[in-house]
Amino acid sequence: MNLKLKAVQIRKDIVTLVHSAGTGHIGGDLSVTDILVDLYYKQMHVGPELVHDPNRDRFVLSKGHSVEALYSVLADKGYFSKEELHQTYSKFGSKYIGHPNNKVNGVEMNTGSLGHGLAVGVGMALAGKMDGRPYRVYVVLGDGEMEEGSNWEAITAGAHYKLDNLTAFVDRNRLQISGTTEEVMTQEKQEERWAAFGWNVLSIPGNDIDAIDAAVTKAKATKGKPTVIIANTTKGCGVSYIENQVAWHHKVPTDAEYAQAMQELQAQEAQYE
Ligand SMILES: [Mg+2]
Repeated sequence: MNLKLKAVQIRKDIVTLVHSAGTGHIGGDLSVTDILVDLYYKQMHVGPELVHDPNRDRFVLSKGHSVEALYSVLADKGYFSKEELHQTYSKFGSKYIGHPNNKVNGVEMNTGSLGHGLAVGVGMALAGKMDGRPYRVYVVLGDGEMEEGSNWEAITAGAHYKLDNLTAFVDRNRLQISGTTEEVMTQEKQEERWAAFGWNVLSIPGNDIDAIDAAVTKAKATKGKPTVIIANTTKGCGVSYIENQVAWHHKVPTDAEYAQAMQELQAQEAQYE
């Protein structure tokens, strides 16, 4: 599969979903898309036929507000109907609410309240070790989310239990809801912080699927400690007027903006076809 092409197609689905629903965290969705595509279409042992398989890999989107990216990938993978998602997303009574919800097929953990996903990922990875299961656990965190102190308890525990079946990503786009991470609460030296807690640390260009894929492969081969991949991303990646704009943390494209986004994404799609 052409993962770069798939990532552009998922971005089109995300922008369409946010535009038609009239709500969504579009900046963070477009930031994290390439990580999800590499994990779901190449690296993870998952699929709609495996949702009850105790050996399936586990995925937790701790930065749960990027749910439109996760739902777009799960729908495309066949966990549920893309049509149903697009018709009911964020509408009254729909199970497709604005943060991941485990009533939705394929979602392992309800998230959205920040700072909880990694602790549960540590528990899942520890349980896998105790049960002798081969599955791996992946958790995606936002860089703004690293301000939550609970993460650092989970990081301590992950190293203590030598959870080499656990991989965390930090979506390091340097923006959060109300400004740059450096203005709000500095996140500099992210790599040194995790290393000091005993993790294997990889730092990569986070919208480069080849780099993501190589890092996940390295994480799988690392023994005796968990791995964090600091993914240096661009918030809003793929749509020019959304990229690096703090206002697009949670904003909906107008009809004209939607048309422009689709035009840009179609041009990218043509490069990979
Ligand atoms: Mg961020």
